[in-house]
Order: sequence, then structure tokens, then C-alpha cells
Amino acid sequence: MQHIAFIGLGNMGAPMARNLVAAGFHVSVFDLAPAAVASLVEAGATAAASASAAVQTADAVITMLPANKHVQELYLAAGGVLDSAKPGALFIDCSTIAADVARQVAQAASERGFAMIDAPVSGGTAGAAAGTLTFIVGGSEAALQQARPLLEKMGKNIFHAGEAGAGQVAKICNNMLLGILMAGTAEALNLGVAHGLDPKVLSDIMAKSSGRNWTLEVYNPWPGVMDGTPASRNYTGGFGTALMLKDLGLAQQSALSANAPTPLGGLVRQLYQMHAQAGYAQQDFSSIVQMLQPDLNK
Ligand code: NAD
Repeated sequence: MQHIAFIGLGNMGAPMARNLVAAGFHVSVFDLAPAAVASLVEAGATAAASASAAVQTADAVITMLPANKHVQELYLAAGGVLDSAKPGALFIDCSTIAADVARQVAQAASERGFAMIDAPVSGGTAGAAAGTLTFIVGGSEAALQQARPLLEKMGKNIFHAGEAGAGQVAKICNNMLLGILMAGTAEALNLGVAHGLDPKVLSDIMAKSSGRNWTLEVYNPWPGVMDGTPASRNYTGGFGTALMLKDLGLAQQSALSANAPTPLGGLVRQLYQMHAQAGYAQQDFSSIVQMLQPDLNK
């Protein structure tokens, strides 16, 4: 498997594709944004004029798109990637989307004789750049074995959650918890600062106490506490509020369909909706702290 098509070169897709180029694969890339394509070409990838052109001679196709509708359109529309790929190509969708859409697309791929896995990721843009992502895979064991050599160049943990769609179910559980933890961490830091505590000192204390969690230790939402986080660059880059809101919506839909209560997931989805509507949709999701402290970074 030498020739890879990579479609969707945003905050996550670009560094993932770069790691495949660095590992020596021939990578054909496509994105609707020409600047995204240009930056990959500079790294050694080959530009394709369209998604169908990118996949025509590829052994494997990786997609990293924002949401359901982008994935459905790219895969299912007439003339889409399933109509253009060569026989035997493997499809790997790394986007975070609804489990039932992942199953629908995998079924369509299978009807045309293609193997496909859903392989959403965790680890953020820093993990994508460092090649340390966690892949959460749904699909057959055989397809996962085929994908492994590629996934290992972009990540360090690979989990097989179950059949098609299972990767998305696990990913949505994780991101609902992430949204809750980020909102909670922001609230705790804001409370301490309101009492005159230094946010860095408070973060150090909680990171060694029972409130420790990833949003506090790796992705701290308070500016000035940690270098290299979106909070340290005015909440640019990273994982957009609109994407977190999408994931919290997916979590609520799957909670309804399984009749599983998710009261905190419901509440935090409302918080992110208000935050997005207040003008923060394109900022990193850690900017939720600005809901409590609007003057941060101004
Ligand atoms: P992004 O918005 O930065 O990038 C998406 C890219 O897809 C854009 O460059 C856009 O131009 C491109 N695109 C959209 N439709 C296209 C099409 N039809 N053909 C070609 N390109 C198309 O998003 P992102 O942050 O890279 O996230 C991508 C996915 O990964 C989302 O599902 C997100 O939920 C998930 N995710 C993101 C993070 C993160 O930290 N950013 C972490 C884990 C998972």
C-alpha cells in the first residue's frame, strides 16, 4: 500500500497527511481550500484537482471532514469517491460523524466491493502533528489490519471498538465527557481567580489533586497558564466550538435513540450552543471560559 489519497486538510487533516508524506507514502491531496492543498504540496504531497481525481489510483483513501453532510456528499453523491476509486481500495474515514451515517457509508462502500472503517481520532491538533493520535476504529478486523500500517504513522494508540459505526459511538462518548470536563475546568479556574488565586498555581494544585483531567493538564483554557495551547494564542486553531457543538449534538441524538440519560451532556450542549451564538463558533472550544470571563485575552 503505497499510494494514499487524503481528503480534508484542515486543522487535523493537514498534520496527519504531513506525517504520511514524511513516512514515505505517495500522498495525493484534495481540499476545497486551495491554501490547504498548497501547504501540503510544499511538504511533498501531490495536488489533485478534485476528490475523485485524488482517489483514482490510490490504494487507500483517508477522509478528515467536518460533519455528516460533508462525508455523505463526498462518498454517496453520484461521481463521488466510491464511484471513482480503483478496485480493492481501502476507505478510512477519520471524521467525527453520527454512527448511523458511518454505517450507511460503510454499507454503500461494501456494496461496491470496498472495505471501509470508521476511525475517528482523539488527541487534538498537537497529537496530529506529533503523530500520537488515538484511533477509535469501527469495522471488520481484516480492514483494520489493512489500515494499521497507515494508522501507526499518524497515531500511537489504535482501539477496535466493534463493527461499523462503533468507533463513532465510542468517540462521541469521549467527546461528551471532554465537553463536560472543559466547561467544569473553566468554571473551577474562574472561581479561584475570582478569589484572587493565580490560575497557574491553582492549575498546578488541581493537576495533583482529585480534579485532575486532560483539559487542565494538557489543554488548559486559561491564557498564560500553558504554552502552545489555543488559550495561549487567543483561542485560534485547535478544536472549534462549532465542532464541539456538533459532537455534543451527536451525543444527545445517540442518547435519545438508546434511551440513555445524559443530563450533563444535555446541559453542556446548551452551554456550547449559547457560546457559539455569542460569536465564538470558530474559536477553539476552550474559549468557553470566556462565557464566564469575557475580558480574558482582550
Ligand atoms: P477543519 O474545519 O479545520 O477542517 C475540515 C477541512 O475539510 C477544511 O479544510 C475544509 O475545507 C475541508 N472540506 C470540507 N468539505 C470538503 C470536501 N467536500 N472536499 C474536500 N475538503 C473538504 O476541521 P478539523 O478540526 O480538521 O476536524 C475535522 C474532523 O475531525 C471533524 O469531524 C472534527 O470533529 C474531528 N476532530 C477534530 C479535532 C480537533 O482538535 N480539531 C480533534 C479530534 C477530531
